Amino acid sequence: MPELDELYQELILDHAKRPRNFRVPEGADRRAEGFNRLCGDRITLFLRLEDGVVRDAGFQGAGCAIFTASASLLTEAVKGKSEQQAEDLFRRFHALVTGHADQAQAETLGKLAAFGGVSAYPVRVKCASLAWHTLKAALSGDGAPVSTEE
Ligand code: ZN
Repeated sequence: MPELDELYQELILDHAKRPRNFRVPEGADRRAEGFNRLCGDRITLFLRLEDGVVRDAGFQGAGCAIFTASASLLTEAVKGKSEQQAEDLFRRFHALVTGHADQAQAETLGKLAAFGGVSAYPVRVKCASLAWHTLKAALSGDGAPVSTEE
């Protein structure tokens, strides 16, 4: 489906150029840092939780287009989700970018399905998943920096 690929590419480029929620949310009470040594992507992710629900999310950092778009879309996707739902999203996104999701599973991810093509490029999988590993660390709250080398 070349049309769909093009649409996905535009979505990723748009978020890479104009990342959403590129800020420190007011009242953020969770944060975690992540670093992808392979590419140099670096992120600090911030969350504000209320009664176990993500009310706000933002990030700071720098990296390649895939990383930036992924972090931007992540901050949009997790808002309004419970911790459980956010972790479930992490699992499904991870399955997608590592090539373990079928078409039907990919479709449940909405815009995030744009990263399905990444599974063909192992180096890029780390760029796409860095923000998500950092999300998991922010939710578990142990505060230890995340590295994709693990
Ligand atoms: Zn990268």
